[in-house]
Amino acid sequence: LIAATVPTLKLHDGRDIPALALGTWLGNNTKPGANEVENSVSWAIDAGYRHIDTAFAYRIEDQVGRAIAKKIGEGIKREELFITTKLWNSEHAKDAVVPALRGSLSSLGLDYVDLYLVHWPVGQFNNGTYDYTDYVETWRGMMEAKALGLTKSIGVSNFNQQQIDRLLELGLEKPTVLQVEINLNLQQPELLAYCSQKDIRVMGYTPFGSLFYNRAKPDAPAPRVDDPALVEIANKYNKTVPQVSLRYLIELGVIPIPKSLTKSRIDQNINVFDFSLTQEEKDVLKKFDRNYRTIPQLKWLNHPYYPFEKP
Ligand code: NDP
Repeated sequence: LIAATVPTLKLHDGRDIPALALGTWLGNNTKPGANEVENSVSWAIDAGYRHIDTAFAYRIEDQVGRAIAKKIGEGIKREELFITTKLWNSEHAKDAVVPALRGSLSSLGLDYVDLYLVHWPVGQFNNGTYDYTDYVETWRGMMEAKALGLTKSIGVSNFNQQQIDRLLELGLEKPTVLQVEINLNLQQPELLAYCSQKDIRVMGYTPFGSLFYNRAKPDAPAPRVDDPALVEIANKYNKTVPQVSLRYLIELGVIPIPKSLTKSRIDQNINVFDFSLTQEEKDVLKKFDRNYRTIPQLKWLNHPYYPFEKP
């Protein structure tokens, strides 16, 4: 395998961010002592991935850290890697942010991350009750973490446009990145236009949405991976349908975060920078947009900072 080269995009703070990242969330399948994420991150770095997306909440930062240490031992330089992690909802108090990031850094075995994100605008105590701390306070803590050099850039995840506007109206630092769900069923054209106008980069999570039968809920809209229109486009480029759906997000300006624990798929998902889609093909893909969210997090529906349209 010849390692692929992923292009970078500029953040408004001057830093470069690789245009595709490896996802590391296992859902509820995290088993203590397991090493599947360590393997996937190692394979990914071998394949040419330089951007890893993780979070305290995934409970696998230690595995990511072991893979990074191994690859640095084999000659990869820390500066070549772009590591993103996230602040969990239980640490929203302004003075909790820096200690939380120090904890993540210790698990990752790093002295800085490249990007630290507020995982959700919604605060929640460990016993499950809502924490009503204003995310503006959380953001001030993020600015402090950056000033201390513990993270090079700061951003937000699962914030809506009004919540980002509120940070800007207060004259606080502008987030460099917004990470939200983006896939064929949830293309978010207005949010993308807003971020482009504000020079905020968008990372797209759950980039495959409901493409795979084993992950699609019964009510999930088309397409699935065997959709004839998608198969036709994929065949034309000698690519797979998952590769075509990642390519579409890249052409929307989004940084997709495909997750896989499977070596062949990790290799496949990065090989999306050697073809491009025609306008007609993009028009076909655009028609799958249904404003359908796979991760609505309804347990936070009644929190005042619940970010999404209420069902
Ligand atoms: P994805 O859309 O990345 O889908 C992952 C699933 O697709 C896995 O079951 C994987 O299988 C399978 N898969 C991956 N590549 C292929 C392929 N080429 N062919 C067939 N199947 C494939 O889902 P996620 O929800 O994990 O989202 C990606 C990442 O985004 C997360 O891991 C996390 O880093 C981030 N995220 C962030 C959130 C946030 O709140 N900020 C919320 C959700 C996700 P297998 O692993 O078995 O190979």
